[in-house]
Amino acid sequence: GKFNSLLARLQKAFEAEKHLIAGAAHELKTPLAVIRAECDISLQRRRDPEEYTSSLKEIRLVCEAMLRQINGLLTLARLDSGMLSISTSQKISLNNCLEDAASLVKPLAKKSAITITKQLTEEITVPGNKESLTEAFLNLIENAVKYNRRNGSVDIRLKSQEEHAEVSIRDTGIGISEEEMERIFSRFYRSDAARSMGGTGLGLSITRAIVQAHQGEITVTSKKAEGSSFKVRIPS
Ligand code: ADP
Repeated sequence: GKFNSLLARLQKAFEAEKHLIAGAAHELKTPLAVIRAECDISLQRRRDPEEYTSSLKEIRLVCEAMLRQINGLLTLARLDSGMLSISTSQKISLNNCLEDAASLVKPLAKKSAITITKQLTEEITVPGNKESLTEAFLNLIENAVKYNRRNGSVDIRLKSQEEHAEVSIRDTGIGISEEEMERIFSRFYRSDAARSMGGTGLGLSITRAIVQAHQGEITVTSKKAEGSSFKVRIPS
């Protein structure tokens, strides 16, 4: 009955929470060890001011990465507990979400001379949560830039299908191998090629959770060294 299904949902939430906490502890141990080591070296003996400065700069970078990680974990915990409110009375514009997300990624794209093109001709609205959908698209566009090549491009499209809206984000980047396809959506997963770049391994799992909270689905097609294409479908 109702009570049992509530219990089952709670049980599932607890299990998810346990995994998330274990993963988080594991992920945060490494940067903390780096900070401790930097402190130990600085404290061993008296050092030049330049050495202190470089230590503090390193510590600051690691702290920034930890903050991003913790913010991602908080977002996931909120999504896990089903706290995302989706307005069904007021429809939100996917055009606006995509415009906002794309403009946030512009500075990063500029650094690698990557061109972002958009085909958002029709105005499409869906029942949804504006902030969350913008975050979901932001993650995808940011990845499309991050895992791209210099002078590459990112193409963002929005079109309406029968019962849903379809967003596609295509890049000319490093691509994703067949074995990786499923794993990229799991928490903390990062490919070896990605490890040299900044990141948390949480972006795609957050994106998928947001899309699923909207009863939508996300799929990916990719060819190694040619590029990837992520498609998001949201019921309209
Ligand atoms: P992050 O980018 O912080 O590592 P994500 O969850 O967003 O975490 O992505 C997980 C992994 O999936 C990345 O580390 C990368 O290996 C791979 N990936 C995601 N998007 C792309 C893309 N557009 N092209 C190639 N690889 C990608």
